[in-house]
Amino acid sequence: MPTSTVEDYLKAIQLAEQGEAGALVGMGRIAADLGVAPGTVTAMVKTLADSGLVAYEPYSGVRLTDAGRQLALHVLRRHRLIELFLVEVLGMDWSEVHRDAESLEHAVSDRVIERIDAMLGHPAVDPHGDPIPDARGVVRERPLATLLDCPTGTSGRVARVADQSPEFLQLVERRGLMPGREVAVVGRDPAADIVELELAAGGRLSLGARAASKILVEVGEPPEASGETMNRR
Ligand SMILES: [Zn+2]
Repeated sequence: MPTSTVEDYLKAIQLAEQGEAGALVGMGRIAADLGVAPGTVTAMVKTLADSGLVAYEPYSGVRLTDAGRQLALHVLRRHRLIELFLVEVLGMDWSEVHRDAESLEHAVSDRVIERIDAMLGHPAVDPHGDPIPDARGVVRERPLATLLDCPTGTSGRVARVADQSPEFLQLVERRGLMPGREVAVVGRDPAADIVELELAAGGRLSLGARAASKILVEVGEPPEASGETMNRR
């Protein structure tokens, strides 16, 4: 049975790859993401390498092995299903579930996780729009663009929020930009670093470039269209 520390490391490396399977992740990045000292990371990574969960390249970084990736995706599946359960079933706010999921993901049995998955109808995404790996570890990534990158005149549906701090999620909610909302980019002011948006539900708002870069939209086709890419481990 892997300890929660091992699971946290594997998950951090998987998330730091940013969808680029096999990418090398630097020790500094892992230390920053987990809030631990670089020396601690190096020691742990060597242990993970001895267990065959990562490949360690001194002075350049670390990458997940197939076994490590399988375990990381399993933890991500648990985390995201638990978040959705807390929101959908327990009625918790989407801005407050991450911390609870961080501890529950290591504690809830597989039997309970599969039961939650079935009860929620085998959902594809969590409350923040993050894809939920299926029981075999397959992730269905959708092609998304940030509100900063889409050309002026683009309209789409908010699909994912990349910054999941409670403060940012609350801002997104106040601005009416939660996943599922329709929005159009109607203008931008490069000098002021501002993106102008129009909500399908009514209303205009402007968003700073940094905030706009953390909100992802699905442009055009509906979710069940064939544009999805299968990201098999
Ligand atoms: Zn989430």
